[in-house]
Amino acid sequence: MKILLNNKSLFESLRPFNDLGFVPTMGGIHKGHLSLINKSKKLCKKTIVSIFVNPKQFNNKKDLRSYPRNIKKDLKILKESKKVDFVYLPKFKDVYKDKKKSKITLLKKDKILCAKFRSGHFEGVLDVMNKLTKIINPQKIFMGEKDFQQLYLVKKQLERIYKTNVIPCKTIRDKNNVALSSRNFLLNKSSLEIAAKIYKKIVRIKKNIKNKKNISNFLKLQKKELKNNYKIKIDYLELRNIHNLKISNTNKNSRLFIAYYLNNIRLIDNL
Ligand code: AMP
Repeated sequence: MKILLNNKSLFESLRPFNDLGFVPTMGGIHKGHLSLINKSKKLCKKTIVSIFVNPKQFNNKKDLRSYPRNIKKDLKILKESKKVDFVYLPKFKDVYKDKKKSKITLLKKDKILCAKFRSGHFEGVLDVMNKLTKIINPQKIFMGEKDFQQLYLVKKQLERIYKTNVIPCKTIRDKNNVALSSRNFLLNKSSLEIAAKIYKKIVRIKKNIKNKKNISNFLKLQKKELKNNYKIKIDYLELRNIHNLKISNTNKNSRLFIAYYLNNIRLIDNL
C-alpha cells in the first residue's frame, strides 16, 4: 500500500494504470468504508482511497472541528485490509490548487432533505468530488447508499462530465442495525442504544406506510412521536422516490429518509 502525500507523487504512481477504482473518504475508517473498498477490489485492477476532511462541505465550524480524525489508525486498518493499493492524503492546496472560484449551484428541485438543512454542504461535496475526480481520473468511484442524496447528486454530476461510473454500495450496519458512520465514534453507548431503537421504529413506520391513505400526514405524526419519545431534534422524515428524490406516495421505488440529532451529533439513514 503506497501512501501519496501530494499530487506529484500521485500522478507518477497512477500513470501506468487505467483500471482504477476510487473510494473517497473523510477518514474515521470503518466497515462501511471497507465494503466500498472490497467492491472496488473485485471490480478494478487497482484501488485508491482518499482521506480528506473537506472544510468546504461543513456548514458548521464546530462540526468540522470535532470531526473524528485519526490518520494513524486509519492507515493501519487500510493496510491490514490488504485491498488498498494507494492512499491519497492531499493537503488543502493539492485539492484546491486552481483557485478558480467554482460555480456550483444546486437546482431548486435538489434543495431538499439535507440540502435544505445544511446550506452549502452539497455545493462543497460536488466541488471536492469534481476536483478529486479530475486529479485521480478513476474509471469507477464507489459511494455508499447511506448518504443517498450525496450519491444521487454526485453520480448525476460526475457521469455527465467525466468518463467515470459512480457505483452505489449498500449501507453497512452495526450489530444493532445502526448505520455505520464516522460520526458514531462521537456517540456514547446510551446514544447508540437510542439510535438502535430509532432504527427499529423507522423499519415499522416504513412497513405501516403501505396501509396509509395520507402518507404525509402519517409521517408528520410519526415524526412528532419520535421527537417526543426520544427527545431528539429531527430535520426530516420523508418518503421519496429513489430515481428523482421527489416526495412519494407509495413504498414502490421509494425510501424513507431521516436526519436527526443525538447529543448534538447529526445522523442520517434511509431504508
Ligand atoms: P465519509 O468518510 O463519511 O465521507 O464516507 C465516505 C464514503 O463511505 C461515502 O461514499 C459514504 O456514503 C460511504 N459510507 C459511509 N458510511 C457507510 C456505511 N455505513 N455503509 C456503506 N457506505 C458508507
